[in-house]
Amino acid sequence: SLSSELTSAAQASATACHLPHKLLINGAWVDASDGETFPIIDPRNEQTILNAASASAVDVDKAVNAAREAFDEGPWPKMSAKERGRTLFKLADLMESHSEKLALLETLDNGKPLSVARAADVPLSVDHLRYYAGWADKIHGKTISVDGPAWAYTLHEPVGVVAQIIPWNFPLLMAMWKIAPALACGNTVILKVAEQTPLTALLLGQLALEAGIPPGVLNILTGFGPQAGAPLCSHRGVDKVAFTGSTEVGRYVGKMAAANLKPCTLELGGKSPIIVDKDVDIDDVVLKAHSGLFFNHGQCCAAGSRTFIHADIYDEFVEKAVAVAQKQKVGDPFTDVNLGPLIDAEQFNKVMNYIASGEVEGAVLRTGGRRLGSEGFYVEPTVFSDVSDNMSIGRDEIFGPVQCLMKFHSLEEVIRRANDTHYGLASGIFSNNVHTINKLTRAIRAGTVWVNCYNVYDAAVPFGGWKDSGIGVEKGEYALQNYTKVKAVYQRLEDPAW
Ligand code: NAD
Repeated sequence: SLSSELTSAAQASATACHLPHKLLINGAWVDASDGETFPIIDPRNEQTILNAASASAVDVDKAVNAAREAFDEGPWPKMSAKERGRTLFKLADLMESHSEKLALLETLDNGKPLSVARAADVPLSVDHLRYYAGWADKIHGKTISVDGPAWAYTLHEPVGVVAQIIPWNFPLLMAMWKIAPALACGNTVILKVAEQTPLTALLLGQLALEAGIPPGVLNILTGFGPQAGAPLCSHRGVDKVAFTGSTEVGRYVGKMAAANLKPCTLELGGKSPIIVDKDVDIDDVVLKAHSGLFFNHGQCCAAGSRTFIHADIYDEFVEKAVAVAQKQKVGDPFTDVNLGPLIDAEQFNKVMNYIASGEVEGAVLRTGGRRLGSEGFYVEPTVFSDVSDNMSIGRDEIFGPVQCLMKFHSLEEVIRRANDTHYGLASGIFSNNVHTINKLTRAIRAGTVWVNCYNVYDAAVPFGGWKDSGIGVEKGEYALQNYTKVKAVYQRLEDPAW
């Protein structure tokens, strides 16, 4: 009802007001050293929600020193792994008991529908944390037989001080993908959140203190990329860098880490293909391809932003995809809608420019393409057909609600075209032919293949980009390697001459 919708938005604002608008350094909330703040903008109406502290190199230095001390002197890496796991389980429980607050803040900050924040962002984040809390006491090395009266074994030790930088599209979930494995392995963390979306991280910081995570173990910085992110990546006191964001910034982050010889994982952009065979249930796949692109307003790194459809069903698919897009409700994300506003003016302008370029370059705009309303960053769900591989909308990551429909005739052709991209993050295959599925699964050069589904995420399954979509993987057992270092120990047995 209208009154409960109004209540949700008002509750979200009230919750935001009660957050600490500061930096979390060494277990205390502090202002930026130079007192600088910056406005956090509500994407529904472009109003300021609150002013957050704007971290600079001086604050980065303080946070790195706090994390260093917490690592070298503090209890976190040395405490029993079980106890560390228990602390993280406690944080997960606290997050769960604050689920509604977290969902309200995420919607206020990011503009995603409250129903999505409630059903996806928050529960997936809690689940992710529990998954890694469970790993804390299951991280171990190997014993290795060697020549001579000796044996050898490996220790998987924490890397140390970890710098983590995240984007705005899934603020809480991206924070959790980063901090959960790092903390479970016994590292200390400096998390630099996206300047657009700090709110859930501020509540997370409060809950982390309440859960008993010791001072300096989790430091949270709000602020901008060049002022806060860059000094963090290039700080000599950081032992490992982990970044999620655009390929453009990722390249730069990778260089800064490399200059200090620090390991660096990068989760970057994508232009993921969805391939639709001629034998599918068209109505069903139209819906799955729709959500594969329009979920989170297309602001997903893994968005299925090139939909290749077999020529035999292309016309019918296009017609139905347009009908589905036209049925979507766009509006205030605290109301019953499918899509809310895009994140900010920059993203809005970028998306509108791509839509204009699609028309100029000869794609057929089937529906959408316009701004909705005069305030906030609302864009109609947009569908282009007749998109060809060399158009900007067919090549670049748009990161918005723009579906690109393309026609193919043969498997060989679609394999070549699907792989004809600098990106390699994800892909989807829809087919009822097991041979087609097996062939495509192996031929696609990307980190994830979804077969007859899309956008499925489980904490236990690795996720990472190939090619320009990144280096390394997050999630699952694989991510433990990002946050541990292997130490080889040779131990002499009884013979002193060995
Ligand atoms: P972005 O690269 O602009 O910003 C990401 C983060 O980097 C922000 O916190 C920002 O402040 C920081 N940053 C910016 N300049 C920096 C600099 N010079 N030094 C250090 N840090 C800097 O990306 P965005 O617009 O926030 O996010 C969208 C991008 O993220 C898309 O390309 C999307 O595909 C990608 N993404 C990838 C994944 C994945 O897992 N592969 C997940 C989500 C988003």
